[in-house]
Amino acid sequence: MNVILGAGMAGIGAFYRDGSFEIFEKEDHAGGLCGRFSVKSDDDRIFYFDKAVHLSFTEDPVVKEAFFKVKQNIYNPVPHSWFKDTWLQHPAQNNLFPMTAEFKVNALKDFINRNQNDDPSNFKQWLLFQYGQYLYDELFEPYNKKYWCTDLEEMDICWVGNRFYRPNIEEVLYGSYTDKTPNTYYAKEMRYPEIGGYRGYIDGIISIAENIGKIHYGYVADNIDLSNKTISFKNGERIKYDKLISSLPLPVVIKCIKDAPSEIKNNAESLEYTSIALVSFGFEKVINCKDIWFYIYDTDILAARAYLPSLKSSENVPEGCSSIQFEIYRSSNGKPFDPVVCMQNCIYALKKMNLADERDIIAKDFRTVEYGNIIFRKDTRQNAACIIKWLESNGIYPIGRFGKWDYLWSDQSFLSGYETASVT
Ligand SMILES: Cc1cc2nc3c(=O)[nH]c(=O)nc-3n(C[C@H](O)[C@H](O)[C@H](O)COP(=O)(O)OP(=O)(O)OC[C@H]3O[C@@H](n4cnc5c(N)ncnc54)[C@H](O)[C@@H]3O)c2cc1C
Repeated sequence: MNVILGAGMAGIGAFYRDGSFEIFEKEDHAGGLCGRFSVKSDDDRIFYFDKAVHLSFTEDPVVKEAFFKVKQNIYNPVPHSWFKDTWLQHPAQNNLFPMTAEFKVNALKDFINRNQNDDPSNFKQWLLFQYGQYLYDELFEPYNKKYWCTDLEEMDICWVGNRFYRPNIEEVLYGSYTDKTPNTYYAKEMRYPEIGGYRGYIDGIISIAENIGKIHYGYVADNIDLSNKTISFKNGERIKYDKLISSLPLPVVIKCIKDAPSEIKNNAESLEYTSIALVSFGFEKVINCKDIWFYIYDTDILAARAYLPSLKSSENVPEGCSSIQFEIYRSSNGKPFDPVVCMQNCIYALKKMNLADERDIIAKDFRTVEYGNIIFRKDTRQNAACIIKWLESNGIYPIGRFGKWDYLWSDQSFLSGYETASVT
């Protein structure tokens, strides 16, 4: 039997390429991080939420062909950030118009005087080099600590790519004089299925796999025996595999291989990631926010980001209602989330940002996602590459965000499965 472990984007991408594979998934549904869930109000009205923001900006032809069979909503969003109790167009560095004169002078002075000859060797240095000391202290350090839950000096910069806009002095100056600035966000067009949530993009493929009995739910891989090529699951079942593709997080798959060399086990233990607390609210009314998603720099609010499912698709909410979901992060080495603290802080955030009052909430939900983002430290790439090479030499082909241990978007995760299935 040819086996795929995990029915997220990557596993579904692998099946899309080669339907001879059978998928074994620990949950009772497919989608992984791109899955959706529903929350009911007391009077049984249903609100749908994705797990975190999720919009598509793929340019890849294979993914477009697979995803775009569904009707989509298309947006050209200009996101905003909540910073020092006001809204700034995103990215803040070239949209400082609403800030005080003193803030702008300090930011501009340090932007001009930043050390441009520096050769940044860590994320802190990179941010200082790009934006200068003042913006680093006021904005980038607090926000990124909230998002990465890690000392920025200990982070590598291999993942940065085009994720941060790097304005020149004219753009910083311009954005401090006017709020009529061009949209410099890295993806201009965002897409989202009209129905089915973000998972709607792969629902058709999932249905085909389900209809021909190729997805097996409730199968938590627990033990992989490399010499006998068998996988044991927590439900007591055991299967024999010929080809094995895995979208499981590298630390999870290595834990399944009891006789992996100690160097590989140590590398797997060194891999860190962030987990996410998703705090979701449904409102009786349409709340006053035009942004599909926004960033939150202020540190009195625990969430780093929020998005509005009701603005992504009207199907996500009952008529006349709206919804929001906050993302709060912790590192895999950090303290567990406290659901009560998270919930109360998000209600505080709603009020502070003048979005809604507690009495407007008619549905609420707290849940966590264990694997969110990879934390890149100096040795992360090297340790992950070493594990991947060892797995491949033993006939296990890792795919997806947590198999490749990389900052992959959903289309890249899908493609990594698709491409791996075509070469194994
Ligand atoms: C906060 C956030 C926002 C994002 N926003 C966007 C966006 O706007 N646009 C975009 O394109 N991408 C976005 N992404 C990226 C996208 O979510 C990922 O690239 C993609 O979902 C990863 O899919 P995957 O299949 O690799 O992993 P997963 O979705 O994690 O799938 C792995 C599967 O394996 C299963 N599994 C785990 N352990 C076992 C086990 N022991 N046995 C059997 N099965 C197991 C899991 O249940 C899961 O279904 C975002 C990611 C995050 C964290």
